[in-house]
Amino acid sequence: MIIKMSPSATQNDIDYVVARISSLGFRAHVSSDVDRALIGVVGSSDPSTSAALQGLRGVEEILPVRTAYRLASREYQDAPSIVRVGDVVIGASAPVVIMAGPCSVEGRETLLETARWVKKAGGRMLRGGAFKPRTSPYSFQGMAEDGLRLLAEARGETGLPIVTEVIAPETVPMVAEYADMLQIGTRNMQNFPLLMAVGRAGKPVLLKRGMMSTIEELLLSAEYILSQGNHQVVVCERGVRGFDSVTRNTLDISAVPVLRELTHLPVIIDPSHAAGRRSLVPALCRAAIAAGADGLLIEMHPHPEQALSDGEQSVTPAQLETIVEGCRRVAAAVGRSL
Ligand code: PEP
Ligand code: MN
Repeated sequence: MIIKMSPSATQNDIDYVVARISSLGFRAHVSSDVDRALIGVVGSSDPSTSAALQGLRGVEEILPVRTAYRLASREYQDAPSIVRVGDVVIGASAPVVIMAGPCSVEGRETLLETARWVKKAGGRMLRGGAFKPRTSPYSFQGMAEDGLRLLAEARGETGLPIVTEVIAPETVPMVAEYADMLQIGTRNMQNFPLLMAVGRAGKPVLLKRGMMSTIEELLLSAEYILSQGNHQVVVCERGVRGFDSVTRNTLDISAVPVLRELTHLPVIIDPSHAAGRRSLVPALCRAAIAAGADGLLIEMHPHPEQALSDGEQSVTPAQLETIVEGCRRVAAAVGRSL
């Protein structure tokens, strides 16, 4: 349930309601919506809880939540959330954020060169996997902590915050030590212990939609993270499995407006894993911005033909520059900046 406080409720009133919720054995999540505080009661839909809270000073209304995901829903919070990664703001009316970089961190020189290109092209964040969840156990699995160190070095040089994937609950603290944002990949969207671990890690999370998951399942996975007290979650559509092998996956562009209706969380698009081919990436980027995405996660490599993973879908630095220009024009056309 959601407790809508009155606009005149004081901080003391809010604290009292929060304490009462804890004494009933539930967790409270306080947020604000325009002129008032909202308090989510996590873990309860029992009418007796509602009765115990009704009538406390400052409580205006108690609303049941009809969606299975509560904290992620627009019923809970209508105003769009923003997520801050370093000095980058994602969501609401903030400029569209371009995150770009290699699929995998492969070595110092290549990564630093890539990071410089990302910055030059107008990218705001650097992506790169140090732990790679590969479909085959014989494929390159990533540089692990050495890769994280290189990402931190690239951030040090360029100032770009880094987003990198974490694939196991036990490595969350180590990845969180280096990363500015933790990525949960498509194959782990329903790895619930991992979702809970990133929910406790104190870092923003980029949650990718499972390649065979529904939007409701995506939001329930986001809810796992939110329910652990981490509200800095961005959801990402990266293509779902379709019947046509002409693309690697099918970019579900409708996920953007659908998610807008259902959740206050920022929504971004990964065109690279959807397309599987670099020639398709620019058009998908423009479509994503036109549909209202808050950002893009793009694979870029200075020498894609030498990439250790996902070279076919990685754009070149020159292509990234052209993509950013195209996106800037589309963003302006839909009343957004970049
Ligand atoms: C990636 O971003 O490199 C990646 C592995 O993505 P996904 O989980 O969407 O396949
Ligand atoms: Mn990849």
